[in-house]
Amino acid sequence: MATMQHAGNKTPQKILYIDDDPLNRALVSRLLTSYNFDVLEAESGLEGITIAKTELPGLILMDINMPGLDGHETTTRMRTISALKQTPIIAVTARTTKGERELALAAGCDGYITKPIDVDSFPHQVLSYLGGYRDTISQDERHYYLNHYNQKLVERLEAKIIELEEANRKLQKIDKLKSDFITLAAHELRTPIALIHGYARLLYSVTDNFNRGKSGKGRIVELARKIFDSVHRLTEVVNDILNISLLEANEMYIAQEPVNLAGVIQAALKELTPAKHGRTVDIIVDPLDNLPPITGDRQRLQQVFWNILSNAIKFTPDGGSILIKGQVVKAVDLPNTHQTACTATTSQTKPGGVIISIKDSGIGIPASEQKEIFDRFYVVGDTAYHSSSKTAFGGGGIGLGLPIARGIIEAHGGQIWVESAGQHVANSPGSSFYIFLPFEIPPRDDQI
Ligand code: ADP
Repeated sequence: MATMQHAGNKTPQKILYIDDDPLNRALVSRLLTSYNFDVLEAESGLEGITIAKTELPGLILMDINMPGLDGHETTTRMRTISALKQTPIIAVTARTTKGERELALAAGCDGYITKPIDVDSFPHQVLSYLGGYRDTISQDERHYYLNHYNQKLVERLEAKIIELEEANRKLQKIDKLKSDFITLAAHELRTPIALIHGYARLLYSVTDNFNRGKSGKGRIVELARKIFDSVHRLTEVVNDILNISLLEANEMYIAQEPVNLAGVIQAALKELTPAKHGRTVDIIVDPLDNLPPITGDRQRLQQVFWNILSNAIKFTPDGGSILIKGQVVKAVDLPNTHQTACTATTSQTKPGGVIISIKDSGIGIPASEQKEIFDRFYVVGDTAYHSSSKTAFGGGGIGLGLPIARGIIEAHGGQIWVESAGQHVANSPGSSFYIFLPFEIPPRDDQI
C-alpha cells in the first residue's frame, strides 16, 4: 500500500495533523508515513499555528474538539495568515451531528472527514484534497452557519474573560499572601535575631566582669537561657516553613503507630500552660482517657494540638476559658472543608474515628475568613499591626500553624474545621475547632 503516494515525488509532502489525543496522532501519523508523507504533529491549536507558519505544510488535518483554541477557531485564525490562506484545511472530527460539517466549512475548512477514520479510505481522501477537491456549501448555508459560529465565538470569549478575571483575582490574592508572608517572616525572624544579638552582647560584658572577679554567675545563666529560647523560636519558624513545603509536596513522613490522643493533648498542653506565660486562661479537659487509640504519628499530632491550643490561648482574653472534649464517632458526614469551613453546603462521609473539639471563649473569627485561615500565610487582620508571640493575647505568627495542622490531619485521612459566630474583641463569641481522625489511616491515592 505504501506505494500509493506520488511515485514520482522525491521530497515527501508535508502534512500537519493537529489533535490533542496522542493515540489519534500516532495512528494517523503511522498511516500517512507509510504512504510516504512527511507528517508533522501538533497537540493544540496554538502549537499547530506556530508549526504551520514555519513549515508551510501542503495540507492540514484539524481535530475540532480541542481544549484552548478549538479546531474551528484555529482554522479561522490560520485563514488570516497570508501564507496559509490557500492551504487545504480538513476537519477530522467525531462530531457528526447535523450542521457540524457546514459549521467547519463556514469556519474556513475545505473538507470534513469523520472519526474514527477508515484506514483504507483515509489516505485516498487526503490525496483527493491534495489534488484539489473541496467540499462546498451554498451561500445561504454559509451565511447561516457563520452567524451561528460568530455567536458561539462571542459566548466563548465571554466565558474566557470571566475565567481569566477569576484567575486574576486568585493571583492577586496569592500575590498579597506572598507579600504578607515576606513581611511576617522577616518580622518573625528579626525578633529572635535581635534578642539573640542583645543578649549575646550582655552576656559578653557580664562574662567579662565575672572573669575580672565581679559577681554575675546567675545573670550569665539567665542570659544563656534567653539566648536558648530565642534560638528555639527561630528553629520553630524555620521548621514551620520546611513543614509546609513538605506537606505541599506530599512528602511529609507520617508514622503509623498507636496513638493515645489524651496523652498527645496533655503533652501539647504541658508546654503551653498559660500561667507559665503570665496568662490567666482556664483550660478544662473533659476526661479523654476512654478514647480508644488511633493509628497515626504521635509527634505530628502533638504539633497539631499545640498549634490549635496556642491559637486558642492567644485569641482568648485573660479570664476566659478553653474546653477540650473528645467523642468516638461511627461513619460520619463532615462539612466539606475545601469549599467552606462552617457554611458548607455539601458534606462527605468519613469512616469511624474520633472527633476532638477545642472550644475557646476568645475573640472569634469572622465568617468570611473561616476558610482562608487554613490557607498558608493567612492571618486575620492587618499584618502591619502584628506582634509575634505564642501565648500573649492577640500575638501573631506567620500564618502557617493552621495550614500545617490541616496538612497533618489530612495526611491522616482526617479533617479539621472551625465554627465561630464571628469576630468581636469585646463580646468574645469564641471559636470551636473540630478535628476528626479516623481509627486507621486510609491508603493514599498513589498507594491504592
Ligand atoms: P499563626 O501560625 O500565625 O498563628 P495560624 O495559621 O495558626 O497562624 O492562624 C491563622 C489566623 O487564624 C490567626 O492569625 C488568627 O487570626 C486566626 N485564628 C486562629 N485560631 C484562632 C482562634 N482560636 N481564635 C481567633 N482567631 C484565630
